[in-house]
Amino acid sequence: MKRPAIPKAKKHLGQNFLIDDYVIAQIIQLIKPHHTDHIIEIGPGAGALTEQLVHTKAAITAIEVDRDLARTLTEHYADAPNFKLHHADIMNFDLGTLQKQSTGWKIVGNLPYNIATPLIMDLVTHRSLWSEMIFMLQKEVALRLTAKASTRSYGRLSIMAQRQADITYKFEVSAASFSPPPKVESAIVQFQSLDVKRNPKIDVYFEKIVRLAFSTRRKTLTNSLRNLLPADVIEQADIDPRSRAENLTIEEYEKLALKALEVSKTLL
Ligand code: SAM
Repeated sequence: MKRPAIPKAKKHLGQNFLIDDYVIAQIIQLIKPHHTDHIIEIGPGAGALTEQLVHTKAAITAIEVDRDLARTLTEHYADAPNFKLHHADIMNFDLGTLQKQSTGWKIVGNLPYNIATPLIMDLVTHRSLWSEMIFMLQKEVALRLTAKASTRSYGRLSIMAQRQADITYKFEVSAASFSPPPKVESAIVQFQSLDVKRNPKIDVYFEKIVRLAFSTRRKTLTNSLRNLLPADVIEQADIDPRSRAENLTIEEYEKLALKALEVSKTLL
């Protein structure tokens, strides 16, 4: 079946439709859809990826906020039993309902760039939902997701995402591959879920410490963590309290979270 025609793009919904068959094939190769897979597609749009995915007989759950596109796709795939579309805003969508249906989802999408960062922050906290995610993103976000400590792009997003997944920067996609062409550069990123079990209490401290440290990025940990961990306690975790947020590795943030949990227990 041919995919639906490319509609007029709605800018406020971040609509840049992929029109390059070679890039579509490259992304599908990365997704490696299999008929036993459960795949969530975020923002299927005019079906550039959807068309290829539906053919593999994998179970496809698509979430599209645009009423017109949602209706077109629902009608177009009315005879495909493996395709289900939710007309919904992914930012308000209850991911728990999908978790009840299955775990180990592959989540894919050429994401609307305006919601990519908060959406990924949310998805990485739902790691038990998915095994793999493959997204087209603004190149700058792709660089932040894969950045290492002490580099310019390293920040809260890098840390929170890399703590939950092995993330690989795959390839860049030219603006000419879209209609209309986006004003920013684009890249594909792949997330493979890390299978680690953690104490949820440590997760709470980890999140809090990273947030506090980056809220005053240029300040030392002594200053930024003052209300949570005094400098001498930071030292007890083998971390130099004169360090700045961007110089700490994920393992070092992990040590601080563990220390914060220990301290909280002694205060009980
Ligand atoms: N997947 C299509 C493609 O590759 O051509 C469209 C990609 S376009 C960059 C982003 C898509 O996400 C659009 O279809 C847009 O309507 C949809 N979208 C935007 N915001 C959304 C949201 N909050 N929830 C669900 N879909 C959204």
